[in-house]
Amino acid sequence: MRRVSIKSRYALIGEDLEVVNDAVIDTSDGEIVGVGKVPGYVNVIDLGNTILVPQLTNAHIHVLDYFLMGLYKRYYIDDLVGAPYGLKYHYLHKARPESLRSGLSHVFRRVRRYGVGCLLTIIEFGTRFADVVLEEARKAGLCIVPLAEPSVFRVYVHLNEEEDVDETFEKEVKYFIDRGFGISLVSPLNYSIAELRLVARLAGSRGLLISTHVSETEDAHADGDLDRALGTLITGNTMLVHLTQLGVDEILRLPKIPVTLSPRSNAEFVNRLPNVDAMLRAGLRPVIGTDNVALIEPDPWGEIRFLRYAMAGSAVLRPVDLLKMVTSWAWSWGFGYVLREGLLMRGIAVGVAYEDLSADYIYDYLVTRASTSDIIYVIDGPEVVRVAD
Ligand SMILES: [Zn+2]
Repeated sequence: MRRVSIKSRYALIGEDLEVVNDAVIDTSDGEIVGVGKVPGYVNVIDLGNTILVPQLTNAHIHVLDYFLMGLYKRYYIDDLVGAPYGLKYHYLHKARPESLRSGLSHVFRRVRRYGVGCLLTIIEFGTRFADVVLEEARKAGLCIVPLAEPSVFRVYVHLNEEEDVDETFEKEVKYFIDRGFGISLVSPLNYSIAELRLVARLAGSRGLLISTHVSETEDAHADGDLDRALGTLITGNTMLVHLTQLGVDEILRLPKIPVTLSPRSNAEFVNRLPNVDAMLRAGLRPVIGTDNVALIEPDPWGEIRFLRYAMAGSAVLRPVDLLKMVTSWAWSWGFGYVLREGLLMRGIAVGVAYEDLSADYIYDYLVTRASTSDIIYVIDGPEVVRVAD
């Protein structure tokens, strides 16, 4: 049994990310067995003047479009990544999984450098690309929640098709469920009601996550994608992504399910941010995803910093909430990490560049000042690895 006490100047403890000064976390074979001020074991690792934070969760990312980097300014967005005629789908339709391996490996190592431990990734054409995505993510040390996308969807659902279930769609969804994957649906508008219900029933019965984009664009919102999702999918374990166009009354109608925000992607694609104030007032616990890796650097710190400044003056959004969006709120929905007794130790130690910060400045410090080069240690269970000077 390997027993180690890990000491840091500050640590963010539990679901509330409570700031503890001069914290000591006792671990036994990588599991947290105690949090206090005095080391429980002889073997002490002192992380110095650092803030110990749970490893981050990036709750929505498309990694398979990395090859489109640099094309964003040259094409209209739908021509690039829109389903099913965008360049991304055209390319992936033909690509061999092996040809993507080294690019994915690079992306995942970069994801890891931002202190991310848990990644919810969309896998387009899931039957073909799931294995290569999973293998490369694991090699980079990521805990990955695969959200596999069936290869078929409807450009438009005609009224007389609502009861139809495409054979390939059903076969692929069943295959994903058998393998324990979550399911990614492009938008509720791209499937018949019967197909949406099928996914909710199959994934729901196994407790597997369903992810779908909802009301990212004005068009999708006007076409009623929210009601379509609420009427079919939320009997399952469903995460709604974006919600950029929702009004306050629609936000109030949302059940308490995970919603994922991608603020920088929204700013780039649709020139608008979701009403985060209303979401927080409604008691939702949103999480953050960085969306298309070709467009947005997969850095959750960048998202929360952007959101802080974009929402400057908000009476509701507190700095600790921004940190929760990338850590403990994700954990509260069943993925990611917090530092608490009884859980696996997965943390990062962020170096503090200035002496004697007051405890009530720690959240602001992390949100506004910390950068990747400040991540000094990555802690995975019993392993404490120094990654920077
Ligand atoms: Zn997306």
